[in-house]
Amino acid sequence: MENEDWITGNIRLLVGGEPLELQMTVPVKPVKPQRMLPIFQQMTDSFVGMAENSVESAGGKISCGKGCGACCRQTIPLAEIEAYQIAEMVEAFPEPRRREIKTRFETAWHHFSEIGWFERLDNCPDFSHGEREKVVLDYFREGVPCPFLEDEICSIHQMRPLACREYLVTSPAENCAELTAENVKTVDLPIKPSETMRKISNRRNLNQTVNFVPLVLALEWAQRFPDDFPEKTGEHWMADFFTTLTKSEIPK
Ligand code: SF4
Repeated sequence: MENEDWITGNIRLLVGGEPLELQMTVPVKPVKPQRMLPIFQQMTDSFVGMAENSVESAGGKISCGKGCGACCRQTIPLAEIEAYQIAEMVEAFPEPRRREIKTRFETAWHHFSEIGWFERLDNCPDFSHGEREKVVLDYFREGVPCPFLEDEICSIHQMRPLACREYLVTSPAENCAELTAENVKTVDLPIKPSETMRKISNRRNLNQTVNFVPLVLALEWAQRFPDDFPEKTGEHWMADFFTTLTKSEIPK
């Protein structure tokens, strides 16, 4: 499909040896990368669907289900563009919801500031020493729910970040309350669009160890660093994404 504003193309990938064909409709005109997020969310859902099928064909079962929000107390790593998208989404909420959500963000931000958690994250040494995992685990131990979690259900399910979409476990759901590598078995996705997105939208030279914005920092981040992303056509954003993902030059 091609019209004045949109162009559609097909992408064929081999994911974990399995062929996957995606049809993507992207803006023709230059846009901020936030406009591309629904497309990357859809792509992530396709990869996650493949991973779910492969777990089930091997006789396994995904334990995640509606009403279980244990994982929504973890550090959620956002790409910078997701931080701006979340800030814009919250600003667009009608009152009193906007105020409620902002208050939850402020409460979480104050909590983690007071215990020096953001500082520890910023100063994380090489994560090969396990320090990043420790910092991330300490966040979970504080038991602070995501500002969007309501009655243990994600209130922004359609718009949730890429990292949330990619998180699936096969261990019993009750184990998620005690997060350890032994206790909680996550599904290893062959492709994680969230990681690629963090690389292509790293404008602040976040370091290699911590190249993400924690979700609870999103509103504060967007205020502190006004959005200066360039505008590019949808085809350029896709080429950037797949060049980073495959580490080979993809023609625009
Ligand atoms: S955005 Fe939704 S899925 Fe992600 S941590 Fe928050 S409540 Fe959970």
